[in-house]
Amino acid sequence: LGVGVSAAGIVESSSGTVRFSPDFNWKHVPLGELIGNAVDLSVVVDNCTRAMALGEQWFGNARGLRNAFYVNVGYGVGSAVIFNNQVYDNHSEFGHLFVTRSGVKCYCGKTGCLEAVSSGHAIERRANQALKQRRGERITARELAQRASSGDREARAIFDAAGKYLGRAIAMVANLLNPGRIIIGGGVSLAGSTLLDPVRSEFEMHTMDVIRAGTVVETSALGMNAALFGAVSLALNCFVFHPEHLHG
Ligand SMILES: [Zn+2]
Repeated sequence: LGVGVSAAGIVESSSGTVRFSPDFNWKHVPLGELIGNAVDLSVVVDNCTRAMALGEQWFGNARGLRNAFYVNVGYGVGSAVIFNNQVYDNHSEFGHLFVTRSGVKCYCGKTGCLEAVSSGHAIERRANQALKQRRGERITARELAQRASSGDREARAIFDAAGKYLGRAIAMVANLLNPGRIIIGGGVSLAGSTLLDPVRSEFEMHTMDVIRAGTVVETSALGMNAALFGAVSLALNCFVFHPEHLHG
């Protein structure tokens, strides 16, 4: 059939090139061509968050929806727009929306970005700053989520802050696009209501009534398999349903 590849970073799907991936420190890597040569099959490559949104459309909570907004909260924060049944194919930088004047620095060089306060990295950094001073231990975002759900107030406060800023950012998107459904996926979304409750309350505070009344904010049902479902959906979409887009 073919191979679907979901890659982190700025991906030019038409040529299968990863233009920039800070996670792997890649610049202009022709990933589709490299894998195609190795496996002797057609290859389609896309950005992981767009692939996850496509997976959500095929197998998850966006099934049957014409419009939706998908947020991937993992180590970073990414997003994808489903518009008129299609995943919008331009690169975007949802993680660098300005959400706080607290002065917190983002790796991009600016301050106050969503990613600097709501990503898995940001959550872990905050937790470990607080814990290191007292107990000398390190904690992951997943462990922190477990503590928060079992009633640890400090852990809950960190998730409350992360969720608040995320809710603020998706409220801006909802007021702009009115997507009807906002699906939060990625590793941090596994925290469930620990993350979703503060997201929803901030979201409701900043959206217009007409938008809020027509918008569902929820976590993805695909869990950590989202990227896998995304890659499968990429391959199905490209090789079975739209083979006219194939090149090479
Ligand atoms: Zn930034």
